[in-house]
Amino acid sequence: MRDLEVFKAIKDESNRQKNNIELIASENFVSSDILSAVGSIMTNKYAEGYPSKRYYGGCYCVDVVETLACDRLKLLFNAEHANVQPHSGSQANMAVYMTILNHNDKVLGMDLSAGGHLTHGHPMNFSGLQYDFYSYGVNKETEMIDYNEVMSIAKDVMPKLIVCGASAYSRAIDFKKFREIADEVGAYLMVDMAHIAGLVAAGLHQNPCEYADFVTSTTHKTLRGPRGGIILCKEQYAKQLDKTVFPGMQGGPLMHIIAAKAICFHEALDPEFKEYINNVVDNCKALAYELEKQGLRIITGGSDNHLILVDVLTTYNITGKVAEKVLDEVNITCNKNTIPFDTQKPFVTSGIRLGTAAMTTKGYSKEDFIQIAKWIAIVLKNHDNEEIKTQVKLEVKKLTEKYS
Ligand code: PLP
Repeated sequence: MRDLEVFKAIKDESNRQKNNIELIASENFVSSDILSAVGSIMTNKYAEGYPSKRYYGGCYCVDVVETLACDRLKLLFNAEHANVQPHSGSQANMAVYMTILNHNDKVLGMDLSAGGHLTHGHPMNFSGLQYDFYSYGVNKETEMIDYNEVMSIAKDVMPKLIVCGASAYSRAIDFKKFREIADEVGAYLMVDMAHIAGLVAAGLHQNPCEYADFVTSTTHKTLRGPRGGIILCKEQYAKQLDKTVFPGMQGGPLMHIIAAKAICFHEALDPEFKEYINNVVDNCKALAYELEKQGLRIITGGSDNHLILVDVLTTYNITGKVAEKVLDEVNITCNKNTIPFDTQKPFVTSGIRLGTAAMTTKGYSKEDFIQIAKWIAIVLKNHDNEEIKTQVKLEVKKLTEKYS
């Protein structure tokens, strides 16, 4: 008998995904092929180990998909070695740390409040608890990474590892400069490209594999694959890294997810994917431009990638928490986010983060994003006006129906 409660929740979520404008920068909509693989019988199989070296019988079919996933991933990013088994982006980061660090080793990562991720040293996260993390932020004037400052902090700290990459940074990151800094202080360099992996795959962002010892990523953001993690590294670290992932920190790999990852990499190798990412970036520029035109303050003044951060506190004197809720009321989904030098608590925040990857997948054009920017501005400006919100919600409905 089907579990009616769970299936009702899945149906409701399906309707929500159809009826809302999804602007959460870390989300996307996967293809039907990827969805089929995620929901496939590959979930039934235990396959501890790696292709041809498993601890279970009957692995010849799952070996095919894991080998395909690794080969395609290496090709996509021009990497020497790939591990597709991490269950998530956080576990990918954990695996790299466990491969090269000892308890309490010094690491330099980007501050969460400046755009970094929890796993880049937050005190409540395993990273901050296990290792001695120091942080760099952004320049107060430009709100961008100041490479001279990172160099100076690195020289003071002398970390064993430098981590770069971010969850809420709208500008290109210069991995070559980070390599120079790491070399200057004799540190390993890890790039967490979770957010921008799709841009790197499409050639629209510097490829970190050229410069970093280790590159980690999620597969479910701009790369548009299933929820999961991956690690790329130089051949010299391959054996040690694989040992850390299994048996070091995981048991059986999620073979249905690995099958879906293989499809994702195949899709990302297709020239159409480049066109998609081009549109993601163009749409993001259009969204940022129109929001600014409507009077909102955009952190750094724009975007080079798929996301923007908006300072709603300075613009409308409302918190990110309120802005998120008000936009939700008109079926526009986004998340509150700290902005550099935020004066509000992380659960309140002064900003919202907006991304264009998901709705670009649905086919939204620049004109649509310009319209969305106008709705965001009018709703936030009139956040107490029920009439305006009802009107915008109706217009949002018309647009979502057009693409469903
Ligand atoms: N690294 C970065 C830069 C991220 O933005 C995220 C997730 O948002 C992660 C790692 C963690 O990924 P996961 O949620 O799969 O653990």
